[in-house]
Amino acid sequence: MTRVAALSTPSAGAPLEPTSIESRALRDDDVRIDIKFAGICHSDIHQVREEWGTAIFPMVPGHEIAGIVAEVGPGVTKHQVGDRVGVGCLVDSCGECEFCKDGEEQFCAKGSVPTYNGEGYDGEKTMGGYSQQVVVSERFALSIPEGIALDVAAPLLCAGITTYTPLKRWGAGPGAKVAVIGLGGLGHMAVKIAVAMGAEVTVLSRTLDKKDDGLALGATNYIATNDDAALKDLRSSFDIIINTVSANLQIDTYLAMLRPLGALANVGLPSDAWQVAPGSIVNGSRVLAGSNIGGIAATQEMLDFCAEHHIGATIETISADRVNEAYDRVVEGDVRYRFVIDTATIPAA
Ligand code: NAP
Ligand code: ZN
Repeated sequence: MTRVAALSTPSAGAPLEPTSIESRALRDDDVRIDIKFAGICHSDIHQVREEWGTAIFPMVPGHEIAGIVAEVGPGVTKHQVGDRVGVGCLVDSCGECEFCKDGEEQFCAKGSVPTYNGEGYDGEKTMGGYSQQVVVSERFALSIPEGIALDVAAPLLCAGITTYTPLKRWGAGPGAKVAVIGLGGLGHMAVKIAVAMGAEVTVLSRTLDKKDDGLALGATNYIATNDDAALKDLRSSFDIIINTVSANLQIDTYLAMLRPLGALANVGLPSDAWQVAPGSIVNGSRVLAGSNIGGIAATQEMLDFCAEHHIGATIETISADRVNEAYDRVVEGDVRYRFVIDTATIPAA
């Protein structure tokens, strides 16, 4: 066991505070990672504030982890000390069920183990990336290609894969018209990746405040969703819509923007229920789909794609003492476009 400096929340909704946690002794196939940067995903905030139901406290959030391999177990073959690696939302799965064999570890029949706010198969509570070290099986440590700096790579481990997966699945590419709802952490990655895939991209944001940024990210159109007339003009316009909004939306309004046979892939996870009129999907045989992160092989494919296209997240790096303020700013929509914690600034507790 090793004591490691971390940021933890003692109870639902309480501020994060410096603490120290134990990281396990290395198993045969484990790597110990010196964490350099950890992104702040809105899912961290949902869980710290117990917006998804009962959570496990104390909680060390963080599933957008980038760092350097510090030590390897005797059976490790994939990574070496000094390798640049990332860890996303998963740290274990059974490896044997049909989903694991298909590279869809997030759907593991035994239940995949989340990076934090979960329990490993050994019964130990998992602790996430707002910390200076983490120990994981080498199967769940991704290689961060040279050419992507660790700070801008960290958010790819969740925001990147979560948007890459539905864009690929629903056919973003040359000739496809893609809309992205919400220009936050996931949204700005969706724009960058869809543009790199060759699609024509429209941003749908609450206001025009971030229009210059959206166009600079490669979108060709930018519409404010508080402009009813502009929204009406978008009927039957898109092949794919990715909804990244962390709050409730009138989904029917957006389904009407799909061309016949088009798909709206939802990745946002507010706790409220939707109301959807059946006609919104029956007319035009439109698809209302969900999408949950992505498997390990797909995450590596996404990292390699991002390196090839020179894509990293657009970030604001913060020190550990600013993390609670950053949470409030994310909820207020005041993030350009991902906060990343410099974990060297986490004080020893
Ligand atoms: P984020 O950075 O806060 O971005 C969310 C965006 O939604 C905001 O930038 C804002 O965009 C828009 N928004 C916020 N409040 C709104 C409101 N009241 N009405 C309309 N629009 C609003 O969050 P994120 O980290 O990208 O995460 C987004 C959501 O995806 C969260 O619910 C998160 O839990 C979920 N998530 C899901 C998965 C998955 O596997 N499916 C993975 C990661 C995260 P504008 O200012 O441009 O309007
Ligand atoms: Zn996330």
